[in-house]
Amino acid sequence: MIITLKKGAKRKEVESVIDKIKNLGYKPHVSKGKDVTIIGMIGEYAEKYKDSFEAMDAVEHISEIQKPYKLASREFKKENTIVKINRNVEVGGKQIHVMAGPCAVETKEILFNTAKTVKASGATILRGGAFKPRSSPYAFQGLGEKGLKYMEAAGEKFHMPTVSEAMTVEEVTLLSKYCDVIQIGARNIQNYDLLKAAGKQAKPVLLKRGMATTIKELLLSAEYILSQGNYNVMLCERGIRTFEDSTRFTLDLNAVPVLKKLTHLPIILDPSHGIGIREHVGTMAKACIAAGADGLIIEVHPNPEEALSDGPQSLLPDQFATLMKELDLIAKAVGRELL
Ligand code: PEP
Ligand code: MN
Repeated sequence: MIITLKKGAKRKEVESVIDKIKNLGYKPHVSKGKDVTIIGMIGEYAEKYKDSFEAMDAVEHISEIQKPYKLASREFKKENTIVKINRNVEVGGKQIHVMAGPCAVETKEILFNTAKTVKASGATILRGGAFKPRSSPYAFQGLGEKGLKYMEAAGEKFHMPTVSEAMTVEEVTLLSKYCDVIQIGARNIQNYDLLKAAGKQAKPVLLKRGMATTIKELLLSAEYILSQGNYNVMLCERGIRTFEDSTRFTLDLNAVPVLKKLTHLPIILDPSHGIGIREHVGTMAKACIAAGADGLIIEVHPNPEEALSDGPQSLLPDQFATLMKELDLIAKAVGRELL
């Protein structure tokens, strides 16, 4: 249930509500809005304490969240969440952020070269996987910790926060040391121990929708992270599996307005995996911005033909530079900013 506090509630009064929640064995989820503070008390049988909270001086009213996901819902929080990332990057506001870089960190040289060019084109976050979830066990699996060290060094050199994927609980710990955003990939969206681990550490999380995950399941997976106390979650639509096989996946643009209505969390779109064909990535990226995305994640590689992962969908640095200018125009047309 949601406990909405009175406008001028004093700190002591707020604390007494929080203490009461804790004493009952629940975790309080506090959200301070512009005018009012609301506290989520979520868990089995929480509603049975409704009357006793309603009787407290600081409490304005109590409401129940109808949706199965609670903290992720717009019912819990009306204003958009702004996810604060290292180096003053804020995702979820007027500014649209583009995360760009190679699918996988391959060599220091390629990473630095790519970081330099995507930064010059206006990307604000550097992407690069060090632990790669490959369909084949014989395909390049990533550089591991060495790759994370390169990511950290590139972020430092080019003043960009970094995002990289964790596939295991141990990797979450490792990534939280080296990177600024922890990516949970499509294949792990229902790895609940991994989600809980991401929720227990402080770095923001980029949660990618699975290729066979419904919007409701995506939000329930986000709820796992939020329920552990990490409220800095960005959702990512990256294409779902349909009967259509002319493209790698089917980018579900419908998810953008639907998610915007259901949740306050920022929505990032991944046109690279979504369509999987370099030639069409730009077109879909533009559609994503027009549909209301808060950010994009795009794969860029200086030599896609030689790339060890996802070359066919990686843009060349020049293509990315041109695209960013076009995206800026679309962003302005829908009342946002990009460059
Ligand atoms: C990636 O970002 O390179 C990746 C593996 O993404 P996804 O989990 O969406 O397939
Ligand atoms: Mn990839």
